[in-house]
Amino acid sequence: MAKILIILENSKGKFVGLTKECLTVVQKLAGDLNADVEGIVLGHGINELAQEAGKYGVKKIYKVDDAEFSGINILYHTRTIEALIKEIDPTLVIAGASLYGQELVPRLAARFDKAMFASVNNLSIDDDEYEGIHPLFEEKLFVTMEGSAEELTFATILGGNNPEAEPDDNLSAEVVDFSPVIEDSDKRESFVEETIAKVSVDITKAKLLVSGGRGVGSGEKFAVIRDTAKALGGEVGASRAAVDAGWVAYDHEIGQTGKTVTPDFYIAAGISGAIQHLVGMRNSKTIIVVNTDEEAPIVEIAHFAIIGDLHEVLPELAKQL
Ligand SMILES: Cc1cc2nc3c(=O)[nH]c(=O)nc-3n(C[C@H](O)[C@H](O)[C@H](O)COP(=O)(O)OP(=O)(O)OC[C@H]3O[C@@H](n4cnc5c(N)ncnc54)[C@H](O)[C@@H]3O)c2cc1C
Repeated sequence: MAKILIILENSKGKFVGLTKECLTVVQKLAGDLNADVEGIVLGHGINELAQEAGKYGVKKIYKVDDAEFSGINILYHTRTIEALIKEIDPTLVIAGASLYGQELVPRLAARFDKAMFASVNNLSIDDDEYEGIHPLFEEKLFVTMEGSAEELTFATILGGNNPEAEPDDNLSAEVVDFSPVIEDSDKRESFVEETIAKVSVDITKAKLLVSGGRGVGSGEKFAVIRDTAKALGGEVGASRAAVDAGWVAYDHEIGQTGKTVTPDFYIAAGISGAIQHLVGMRNSKTIIVVNTDEEAPIVEIAHFAIIGDLHEVLPELAKQL
Protein backbone atom coordinates (compact mmCIF):
# COMPACT_ATOMS: atom_id res chain seq x y z
CA MET A 1 0.00 0.00 0.00
CA ALA A 2 1.24 3.51 -0.80
CA LYS A 3 2.51 5.61 2.09
CA ILE A 4 2.39 9.31 2.83
CA LEU A 5 5.04 10.55 5.24
CA ILE A 6 4.13 13.67 7.20
CA ILE A 7 6.84 15.55 9.09
CA LEU A 8 5.21 16.48 12.40
CA GLU A 9 6.72 19.82 13.43
CA ASN A 10 6.51 20.48 17.14
CA SER A 11 7.57 23.06 19.65
CA LYS A 12 7.52 22.99 23.47
CA GLY A 13 5.82 19.59 23.57
CA LYS A 14 3.00 20.44 21.14
CA PHE A 15 2.36 20.09 17.44
CA VAL A 16 2.36 23.50 15.79
CA GLY A 17 -0.97 24.64 14.30
CA LEU A 18 0.36 24.35 10.76
CA THR A 19 1.12 20.66 11.29
CA LYS A 20 -2.54 20.15 12.20
CA GLU A 21 -3.57 21.97 9.00
CA CYS A 22 -1.26 19.64 7.06
CA LEU A 23 -2.88 16.65 8.74
CA THR A 24 -6.20 17.77 7.24
CA VAL A 25 -4.63 17.87 3.76
CA VAL A 26 -2.99 14.50 4.31
CA GLN A 27 -6.18 12.80 5.54
CA LYS A 28 -7.93 13.80 2.32
CA LEU A 29 -4.99 12.72 0.13
CA ALA A 30 -4.74 9.39 1.94
CA GLY A 31 -8.34 8.62 0.93
CA ASP A 32 -7.78 9.69 -2.69
CA LEU A 33 -4.49 7.81 -3.03
CA ASN A 34 -5.63 4.84 -0.98
CA ALA A 35 -2.49 5.35 1.10
CA ASP A 36 -1.51 4.90 4.74
CA VAL A 37 -0.35 7.96 6.64
CA GLU A 38 2.92 7.59 8.54
CA GLY A 39 4.62 10.37 10.46
CA ILE A 40 7.99 11.29 11.86
CA VAL A 41 8.35 13.30 15.03
CA LEU A 42 11.77 14.50 16.13
CA GLY A 43 12.72 16.01 19.47
CA HIS A 44 13.62 15.08 23.03
CA GLY A 45 11.18 13.73 25.63
CA ILE A 46 8.46 13.35 23.01
CA ASN A 47 6.86 10.07 24.01
CA GLU A 48 3.41 11.51 24.67
CA LEU A 49 3.55 13.69 21.60
CA ALA A 50 4.31 10.69 19.41
CA GLN A 51 1.28 8.85 20.86
CA GLU A 52 -0.90 11.89 20.30
CA ALA A 53 -0.22 11.88 16.57
CA GLY A 54 -2.21 8.67 16.35
CA LYS A 55 -5.37 10.60 17.24
CA TYR A 56 -5.05 12.42 13.92
CA GLY A 57 -5.23 9.29 11.79
CA VAL A 58 -1.47 8.69 11.52
CA LYS A 59 -1.07 4.90 11.50
CA LYS A 60 2.62 4.60 12.32
CA ILE A 61 4.89 7.12 14.00
CA TYR A 62 8.67 7.08 13.74
CA LYS A 63 9.95 8.72 16.91
CA VAL A 64 13.42 10.21 16.97
CA ASP A 65 13.90 10.98 20.66
CA ASP A 66 17.40 12.18 21.38
CA ALA A 67 19.08 14.94 23.39
CA GLU A 68 20.75 16.14 20.18
CA PHE A 69 17.24 16.92 18.91
CA SER A 70 16.17 19.22 21.79
CA GLY A 71 16.76 22.10 19.44
CA ILE A 72 16.56 22.15 15.69
CA ASN A 73 19.70 21.41 13.76
CA ILE A 74 18.31 21.26 10.23
CA LEU A 75 21.22 19.11 9.06
CA TYR A 76 20.46 16.41 11.64
CA HIS A 77 16.79 16.50 10.69
CA THR A 78 17.57 16.30 6.98
CA ARG A 79 19.93 13.36 7.30
CA THR A 80 17.64 11.43 9.64
CA ILE A 81 14.51 11.93 7.54
CA GLU A 82 16.50 11.07 4.42
CA ALA A 83 17.40 7.73 6.03
CA LEU A 84 13.75 7.09 6.93
CA ILE A 85 12.57 7.86 3.40
CA LYS A 86 15.10 5.36 2.04
CA GLU A 87 13.85 2.77 4.51
CA ILE A 88 10.06 3.12 4.14
CA ASP A 89 9.83 4.33 0.54
CA PRO A 90 6.85 6.74 0.79
CA THR A 91 5.12 8.10 -2.28
CA LEU A 92 4.70 11.59 -0.78
CA VAL A 93 6.64 13.54 1.87
CA ILE A 94 4.79 16.56 3.22
CA ALA A 95 5.30 19.28 5.84
CA GLY A 96 4.03 22.75 6.69
CA ALA A 97 5.60 25.68 4.83
CA SER A 98 6.92 27.15 8.09
CA LEU A 99 10.49 28.44 8.28
CA TYR A 100 11.38 24.90 9.40
CA GLY A 101 9.52 23.19 6.53
CA GLN A 102 10.86 25.64 3.98
CA GLU A 103 14.40 24.93 5.07
CA LEU A 104 14.03 21.20 5.48
CA VAL A 105 11.90 19.88 2.62
CA PRO A 106 13.81 21.45 -0.32
CA ARG A 107 16.99 19.88 1.11
CA LEU A 108 15.28 16.48 1.15
CA ALA A 109 13.91 16.95 -2.38
CA ALA A 110 17.42 17.82 -3.58
CA ARG A 111 18.87 14.70 -1.95
CA PHE A 112 16.44 12.56 -3.92
CA ASP A 113 16.88 14.70 -7.05
CA LYS A 114 13.18 15.57 -7.20
CA ALA A 115 11.34 18.81 -7.83
CA MET A 116 8.78 19.82 -5.21
CA PHE A 117 5.47 21.54 -4.63
CA ALA A 118 6.86 24.47 -2.66
CA SER A 119 4.53 26.53 -0.46
CA VAL A 120 1.23 25.51 -2.02
CA ASN A 121 -2.20 26.42 -0.61
CA ASN A 122 -3.28 22.83 -0.86
CA LEU A 123 -2.34 19.63 -2.62
CA SER A 124 -4.96 17.57 -4.38
CA ILE A 125 -4.92 14.59 -6.69
CA ASP A 126 -6.73 13.99 -9.94
CA ASP A 127 -6.05 11.17 -12.41
CA ASP A 128 -2.64 10.23 -10.96
CA GLU A 129 -1.53 13.87 -11.06
CA TYR A 130 -0.95 16.08 -8.06
CA GLU A 131 -2.09 19.66 -8.31
CA GLY A 132 -0.94 22.48 -6.05
CA ILE A 133 -1.46 26.23 -6.20
CA HIS A 134 1.40 28.49 -5.28
CA PRO A 135 0.53 32.17 -4.69
CA LEU A 136 2.91 34.88 -5.85
CA PHE A 137 3.22 38.64 -5.42
CA GLU A 138 1.06 38.84 -2.29
CA GLU A 139 -1.57 36.60 -3.85
CA LYS A 140 -2.01 38.69 -6.98
CA LEU A 141 -0.89 35.78 -9.15
CA PHE A 142 -1.48 32.06 -8.64
CA VAL A 143 0.70 29.41 -10.27
CA THR A 144 -0.83 25.98 -10.71
CA MET A 145 1.73 23.20 -10.48
CA GLU A 146 1.14 19.64 -11.59
CA GLY A 147 3.22 16.53 -11.17
CA SER A 148 2.93 12.78 -11.49
CA ALA A 149 1.73 10.94 -8.40
CA GLU A 150 3.64 7.89 -9.61
CA GLU A 151 6.96 9.32 -8.43
CA LEU A 152 8.30 10.25 -5.02
CA THR A 153 6.98 13.78 -4.39
CA PHE A 154 7.79 16.46 -1.83
CA ALA A 155 5.47 19.29 -0.76
CA THR A 156 5.12 22.11 1.77
CA ILE A 157 1.68 23.52 2.60
CA LEU A 158 1.06 27.17 3.42
CA GLY A 159 -0.81 28.07 6.62
CA GLY A 160 -4.26 29.61 6.81
CA ASN A 161 -5.82 27.66 3.94
CA ASN A 162 -7.02 24.49 5.62
CA PRO A 163 -8.76 23.90 8.96
CA GLU A 164 -6.74 22.25 11.70
CA ALA A 165 -7.46 18.52 12.02
CA GLU A 166 -9.37 17.55 15.15
CA PRO A 167 -8.06 14.70 17.33
CA ASP A 168 -10.15 11.54 17.67
CA ASP A 169 -9.53 9.78 21.00
CA ASN A 170 -10.62 6.46 19.49
CA LEU A 171 -7.65 6.41 17.13
CA SER A 172 -4.08 5.43 17.99
CA ALA A 173 -0.80 4.77 16.22
CA GLU A 174 2.00 2.26 16.37
CA VAL A 175 5.03 4.17 17.68
CA VAL A 176 8.44 2.95 16.51
CA ASP A 177 11.83 4.29 17.63
CA PHE A 178 13.98 5.51 14.78
CA SER A 179 17.66 6.15 15.33
CA PRO A 180 19.02 9.59 14.60
CA VAL A 181 21.57 9.84 11.83
CA ILE A 182 24.21 12.47 12.52
CA GLU A 183 27.55 12.92 10.83
CA ASP A 184 30.44 14.96 12.15
CA SER A 185 30.16 17.36 9.23
CA ASP A 186 26.59 18.23 10.42
CA LYS A 187 27.88 19.52 13.74
CA ARG A 188 28.67 22.98 12.51
CA GLU A 189 25.45 24.38 14.02
CA SER A 190 24.55 24.01 17.66
CA PHE A 191 21.28 24.78 19.37
CA VAL A 192 21.50 27.45 22.07
CA GLU A 193 17.99 28.35 23.21
CA GLU A 194 14.44 28.60 21.95
CA THR A 195 12.62 31.76 22.97
CA ILE A 196 8.96 32.27 22.23
CA ALA A 197 7.99 35.93 22.01
CA LYS A 198 5.52 37.00 24.71
CA VAL A 199 2.16 37.94 23.27
CA SER A 200 -0.61 39.70 25.13
CA VAL A 201 -3.28 37.79 23.21
CA ASP A 202 -3.45 34.99 20.65
CA ILE A 203 -6.02 36.28 18.18
CA THR A 204 -5.56 33.26 15.92
CA LYS A 205 -7.67 31.19 18.32
CA ALA A 206 -10.57 33.68 18.60
CA LYS A 207 -13.97 32.64 17.24
CA LEU A 208 -15.01 36.26 16.79
CA LEU A 209 -12.81 39.22 15.96
CA VAL A 210 -13.70 42.89 15.78
CA SER A 211 -11.01 44.62 13.76
CA GLY A 212 -10.41 48.33 13.45
CA GLY A 213 -8.51 50.28 10.82
CA ARG A 214 -7.54 53.85 10.03
CA GLY A 215 -11.23 54.72 9.64
CA VAL A 216 -11.63 54.49 13.42
CA GLY A 217 -10.00 57.91 13.58
CA SER A 218 -7.78 58.01 16.69
CA GLY A 219 -6.33 56.07 19.60
CA GLU A 220 -9.11 57.24 21.95
CA LYS A 221 -11.80 56.36 19.47
CA PHE A 222 -10.32 52.84 19.13
CA ALA A 223 -12.17 52.14 22.40
CA VAL A 224 -15.27 51.46 20.29
CA ILE A 225 -13.49 48.42 18.78
CA ARG A 226 -12.48 47.10 22.22
CA ASP A 227 -15.97 47.74 23.65
CA THR A 228 -17.68 45.97 20.74
CA ALA A 229 -15.30 43.00 20.95
CA LYS A 230 -15.96 42.74 24.68
CA ALA A 231 -19.72 43.02 24.28
CA LEU A 232 -19.71 40.26 21.66
CA GLY A 233 -17.31 38.00 23.58
CA GLY A 234 -14.54 38.30 20.98
CA GLU A 235 -11.01 39.66 20.59
CA VAL A 236 -9.63 42.82 19.00
CA GLY A 237 -7.97 42.78 15.58
CA ALA A 238 -6.46 45.61 13.56
CA SER A 239 -5.10 46.67 10.23
CA ARG A 240 -1.48 47.69 9.97
CA ALA A 241 -2.53 51.34 9.65
CA ALA A 242 -4.09 51.21 13.13
CA VAL A 243 -1.04 49.43 14.56
CA ASP A 244 1.42 51.84 12.92
CA ALA A 245 -0.57 54.76 14.34
CA GLY A 246 0.02 53.29 17.82
CA TRP A 247 -3.70 52.78 18.56
CA VAL A 248 -3.30 49.06 19.27
CA ALA A 249 -0.38 46.65 19.87
CA TYR A 250 1.23 44.66 17.06
CA ASP A 251 -0.06 41.35 18.52
CA HIS A 252 -3.45 42.37 17.08
CA GLU A 253 -2.28 43.03 13.51
CA ILE A 254 -3.84 40.92 10.80
CA GLY A 255 -2.39 40.38 7.35
CA GLN A 256 0.81 39.77 5.52
CA THR A 257 3.02 41.18 8.25
CA GLY A 258 0.63 40.20 11.05
CA LYS A 259 -1.41 37.12 11.86
CA THR A 260 -3.53 34.91 9.64
CA VAL A 261 -6.94 34.35 11.18
CA THR A 262 -9.98 32.24 10.26
CA PRO A 263 -12.59 33.02 12.95
CA ASP A 264 -16.28 32.18 12.67
CA PHE A 265 -17.02 35.93 12.57
CA TYR A 266 -14.72 38.70 11.38
CA ILE A 267 -16.05 42.24 11.75
CA ALA A 268 -13.89 44.73 9.83
CA ALA A 269 -14.63 48.33 10.76
CA GLY A 270 -12.93 51.26 9.03
CA ILE A 271 -10.65 48.93 7.04
CA SER A 272 -10.42 49.42 3.27
CA GLY A 273 -9.26 45.90 2.33
CA ALA A 274 -5.73 46.27 0.98
CA ILE A 275 -4.48 42.91 -0.33
CA GLN A 276 -1.93 42.75 2.50
CA HIS A 277 -4.82 42.80 4.98
CA LEU A 278 -7.09 40.47 3.01
CA VAL A 279 -4.51 37.66 2.88
CA GLY A 280 -4.70 37.44 6.66
CA MET A 281 -8.49 37.22 7.07
CA ARG A 282 -10.27 36.30 3.86
CA ASN A 283 -10.82 32.68 4.91
CA SER A 284 -12.90 33.80 7.90
CA LYS A 285 -16.22 31.96 7.88
CA THR A 286 -18.46 35.05 8.05
CA ILE A 287 -17.12 38.49 7.16
CA ILE A 288 -19.08 41.54 8.26
CA VAL A 289 -17.85 44.91 6.99
CA VAL A 290 -18.66 48.33 8.39
CA ASN A 291 -17.43 51.10 6.09
CA THR A 292 -18.62 54.49 4.91
CA ASP A 293 -17.43 53.68 1.38
CA GLU A 294 -19.51 51.11 -0.46
CA GLU A 295 -16.72 50.76 -3.02
CA ALA A 296 -14.04 49.81 -0.50
CA PRO A 297 -12.36 46.58 -1.76
CA ILE A 298 -13.21 44.72 1.45
CA VAL A 299 -16.93 45.07 0.64
CA GLU A 300 -16.37 42.69 -2.30
CA ILE A 301 -15.43 39.79 -0.03
CA ALA A 302 -17.99 40.59 2.69
CA HIS A 303 -20.87 38.24 3.47
CA PHE A 304 -22.64 41.25 5.02
CA ALA A 305 -21.71 44.90 4.51
CA ILE A 306 -23.11 47.78 6.51
CA ILE A 307 -22.47 51.10 4.80
CA GLY A 308 -22.22 53.71 7.51
CA ASP A 309 -20.18 55.34 10.23
CA LEU A 310 -18.64 52.67 12.43
CA HIS A 311 -19.08 54.86 15.52
CA GLU A 312 -22.82 54.67 15.03
CA VAL A 313 -23.05 51.14 13.63
CA LEU A 314 -20.84 49.20 16.07
CA PRO A 315 -22.62 50.20 19.31
CA GLU A 316 -25.89 49.33 17.59
CA LEU A 317 -24.50 46.01 16.33
CA ALA A 318 -23.30 45.13 19.83
CA LYS A 319 -26.85 45.63 21.09
CA GLN A 320 -28.45 43.58 18.28
CA LEU A 321 -26.15 40.53 18.13
C1 LIG B 1 4.90 45.04 2.53
C2 LIG B 1 3.60 45.48 3.13
C3 LIG B 1 3.02 44.69 4.10
C4 LIG B 1 1.81 45.09 4.68
N1 LIG B 1 1.22 44.29 5.62
C5 LIG B 1 0.01 44.61 6.11
C6 LIG B 1 -0.66 43.76 7.03
O1 LIG B 1 -0.16 42.73 7.47
N2 LIG B 1 -1.89 44.13 7.45
C7 LIG B 1 -2.52 45.27 7.04
O2 LIG B 1 -3.65 45.53 7.47
N3 LIG B 1 -1.90 46.09 6.17
C8 LIG B 1 -0.65 45.81 5.71
N4 LIG B 1 -0.03 46.65 4.86
C9 LIG B 1 -0.64 47.98 4.63
C10 LIG B 1 -1.76 47.96 3.61
O3 LIG B 1 -1.22 48.10 2.31
C11 LIG B 1 -2.73 49.12 3.87
O4 LIG B 1 -2.02 50.34 3.84
C12 LIG B 1 -3.46 49.02 5.21
O5 LIG B 1 -4.04 47.74 5.35
C13 LIG B 1 -4.57 50.06 5.24
O6 LIG B 1 -5.18 50.04 6.49
P1 LIG B 1 -6.69 50.47 6.65
O7 LIG B 1 -7.57 49.67 5.78
O8 LIG B 1 -6.98 50.51 8.11
O9 LIG B 1 -6.64 52.03 6.17
P2 LIG B 1 -7.22 52.71 4.88
O10 LIG B 1 -6.79 52.02 3.65
O11 LIG B 1 -6.88 54.15 5.00
O12 LIG B 1 -8.80 52.51 4.98
C14 LIG B 1 -9.61 53.15 5.92
C15 LIG B 1 -11.05 52.77 5.61
O13 LIG B 1 -11.89 53.28 6.62
C16 LIG B 1 -13.10 53.74 6.01
N5 LIG B 1 -13.68 54.73 6.94
C17 LIG B 1 -13.23 55.98 7.21
N6 LIG B 1 -13.99 56.54 8.19
C18 LIG B 1 -14.93 55.62 8.54
C19 LIG B 1 -15.97 55.59 9.50
N7 LIG B 1 -16.20 56.62 10.31
N8 LIG B 1 -16.74 54.49 9.56
C20 LIG B 1 -16.52 53.43 8.75
N9 LIG B 1 -15.54 53.39 7.84
C21 LIG B 1 -14.74 54.45 7.74
C22 LIG B 1 -12.66 54.29 4.69
O14 LIG B 1 -13.73 54.31 3.76
C23 LIG B 1 -11.57 53.29 4.27
O15 LIG B 1 -12.12 52.24 3.52
C24 LIG B 1 1.17 46.31 4.28
C25 LIG B 1 1.78 47.08 3.29
C26 LIG B 1 2.97 46.67 2.73
C27 LIG B 1 3.59 47.54 1.65
